[in-house]
Amino acid sequence: MRLRKRIADVWPIMPGSERTPENWPGWPEGKKFAFVLTHDVESKTGLGRCQPLMQLEMELGFRSSFNFIPEGSYRVPAELREELTANGFEVGIHDLKHDGRLFASLHAFKRRAARINSYAREWGASGFRSGFMLRNLDWLHNLDVQYDASTFDTDPFEPQPEGCKGVKPSSHSGCRVRPSLTRLTVNNQPSILLQTVTSSFPIPCRRIRHSSYCCARTR
Ligand SMILES: [Zn+2]
Repeated sequence: MRLRKRIADVWPIMPGSERTPENWPGWPEGKKFAFVLTHDVESKTGLGRCQPLMQLEMELGFRSSFNFIPEGSYRVPAELREELTANGFEVGIHDLKHDGRLFASLHAFKRRAARINSYAREWGASGFRSGFMLRNLDWLHNLDVQYDASTFDTDPFEPQPEGCKGVKPSSHSGCRVRPSLTRLTVNNQPSILLQTVTSSFPIPCRRIRHSSYCCARTR
């Protein structure tokens, strides 16, 4: 309760985060907002639910991004990656081992970044998100990816709570940084996904109204 009081002026929407980037022409074809749906697959159980989730989203007309852990507790079958991309979904990289040690030191990060880059090449992945949303934006240029989604505008509940204070993508250390909304935790269970998205919708809706952009993260 005390935390809620302390964060009331920044959560769930930080004043000023609606500012648009300089020279931003707006969304294509005059669209009013963008909504991005991403999944972090964190266990064998989650891996087994990727296909039903993909089917459900296709029925509803969505396409999302599935982020897999290359050296975690499961191995990602090449057939699953291929099926996802053949159906228009994106396959991304979620950390390397998901052990909270990715940014322990620059030396260790560079070693792990080389392995992440080799998985990105092998998988044809262009996006990255770290485990636990840990980050050091100044080191991002070591990753050969087109964008990083390891930050958010504001989230006092994360281990590294300070965000980038805006919701629109920006550039940092030669990498595109795409802030994420982190309030949807559904363990990739399709039926719960719909429930959670629906019950969490006041936040995404308020963010969309406020800033015309929202990137939702489920795990
Ligand atoms: Zn994770």
